[in-house]
Amino acid sequence: MESKSLQTARRMRALEPSATLAMAARASAMAASGIDVIDLSVGEPDFPTPPHICQAGDEAIRTGKTRYTPAAGIPALRKAVADDYSRRSGLSVTPAQVVVSNGAKHSLHNVFTAVLDEGDEVIVPTPYWVSYAELIKLAGAVPVLVETRIDDNFKLSPEALRAAITPRTRMLLLCSPSNPTGVVYSAAELGALADVAIEHDLAVVSDEIYDQLVYDGRESVSFPTLRPGLADRTVVVAGVSKTYSMTGWRIGWTIAPEPLSKAIGNLQSQETSNPCSISQHAAVAALTGPQDCVAEMLKAFERRRDLVAGRLSALPGIRLPEIGGAFYAFFDIREPLSRMKADGIATSMQWCEALLERHHVALVAGSAFGAEGHVRMSFAASEEKLAAGVDRIATFLGVG
Ligand code: PMP
Ligand code: GLU
Repeated sequence: MESKSLQTARRMRALEPSATLAMAARASAMAASGIDVIDLSVGEPDFPTPPHICQAGDEAIRTGKTRYTPAAGIPALRKAVADDYSRRSGLSVTPAQVVVSNGAKHSLHNVFTAVLDEGDEVIVPTPYWVSYAELIKLAGAVPVLVETRIDDNFKLSPEALRAAITPRTRMLLLCSPSNPTGVVYSAAELGALADVAIEHDLAVVSDEIYDQLVYDGRESVSFPTLRPGLADRTVVVAGVSKTYSMTGWRIGWTIAPEPLSKAIGNLQSQETSNPCSISQHAAVAALTGPQDCVAEMLKAFERRRDLVAGRLSALPGIRLPEIGGAFYAFFDIREPLSRMKADGIATSMQWCEALLERHHVALVAGSAFGAEGHVRMSFAASEEKLAAGVDRIATFLGVG
């Protein structure tokens, strides 16, 4: 009889693998077998990490900064994060409020583990980034998915938020600019949600990892700035992955009230000791060094946004919201899907599978983001690849 000794824990049985990473892995396996795949699945800037940041990493290795660091991060980085955030937001944040982690994904895991009790409910507007629901469940809590619609530009309204609140609601999770929709909430829209959070004494996690990737001259607004006292109930999550094209360095952080920050630091001291020492030194250079690289990448992303939004919305039956930030086009394929049933394609997953198999373009199915009938394209790729990708989609739709 087979031993059950290494059967996985109940909490693991419910855990889905990251759909974004799974699709990217599939696309690269196809590419490795010689197929000309256009991979627009994963959300990862395609630029090299700017040279002055790499040099700081190099210097850290050469000067022996290769040992354990304080669990919550080196003082220079906690200060750099606090200073940068204080300067940009206008709030006054101290280094003690910052905990540096192995990427913003890890920071989110830390917050959920440190704040949520078994059975607590977290309101997550859909479409949501793939890892939110799984990380909330891992912490023993319950993601309460609240649908937003393309007709409302995928924005959560205060009424919908209010209607989802129960006596078990503990937290609201927001992501603006949004992964997967690219939608950016205005200060007034976020302020109206803040009022409901205050009225119902909710904690708020504001995922601001795309805060510097906003288009058309928009100003990015940090959630805790919107109402007095909001910072006491909000954790801001951000990092260097997207802004500085540093996904592989694995540096993210939380900005939280000091007692919670201390708890997160304690948790991390048991979990991972500290984020990579070398990456932390590189992240100091990213935050304190010249920022022209950020402006240049932003310009490139804005050109790509224009190309993708223009070309996709010209395809018959395809609808997409206004992309104000981040680097995703999240489009509605319900109309073409309704015509493809005879071809065995009825779901966003089947649509993505067929697009990959037949035309070698990798996107991510909307179902992974809690929004069936849609798909996500990452436009963190060259204009040439994006144009070719849209051409192939047009052919798939029978209009190319
Ligand atoms: N939040 C959002 C909305 C994201 O898109 C990502 C991208 N992976 C993350 C958090 C995590 O970023 P990282 O772990 O690379 O810092
Ligand atoms: N945030 C990126 C995405 O959504 C990276 C993948 C991931 O971390 O899951 O594609």
